[in-house]
Amino acid sequence: MIDEIMEFNRKFVESRGYEPYLTSKYPDKKLAVLTCMDTRLIELLPAALGIRNGDAKIIKNAGGVTNHPYGSVMRSLLVGILELGVEEIMVIGHTDCGVQGMDGKEMLKKLEERGVSREHMDIICHSGVDLEKWLGGFSSVETSVRETVKSLKEHPLMPKDIRISGFIMDSVTGKLTRAEE
Ligand SMILES: [Zn+2]
Repeated sequence: MIDEIMEFNRKFVESRGYEPYLTSKYPDKKLAVLTCMDTRLIELLPAALGIRNGDAKIIKNAGGVTNHPYGSVMRSLLVGILELGVEEIMVIGHTDCGVQGMDGKEMLKKLEERGVSREHMDIICHSGVDLEKWLGGFSSVETSVRETVKSLKEHPLMPKDIRISGFIMDSVTGKLTRAEE
């Protein structure tokens, strides 16, 4: 697959396929979006929001969560705000998310089946990392979005003038509904 991608890339650049995407690093809509890495949202999410190349900072991970108050998501949002002019943040969960109902215990079992030693997992757990919780999912996407919004609003490093709101996107139609707080 990588060879095919490399070949496509060569032709893309040669035929100047990049021209419609030319823009700057500053988000024109002064917007950051925190959302899920789900494959159905790759093109659907920007299309359904009317976001084009250059419009927004889009931060993605499994579930569209912050995961850790001083992890990469919060850091990325602060870079967007302080260096790139972001004024508004949308947290967007989506229907039928793979992270919903994910079981940390099951994930550790799968790791063991893939040859990762249980002993290593135990050592990590004994060093104070709750692996089951870390790999576990959320039970409700609405609750997860609301909690993420709350944690961002209450984060001690979040500037108070930043507007933060939560939404759920329909993974098929792209319809956006507010996750009421
Ligand atoms: Zn998802």
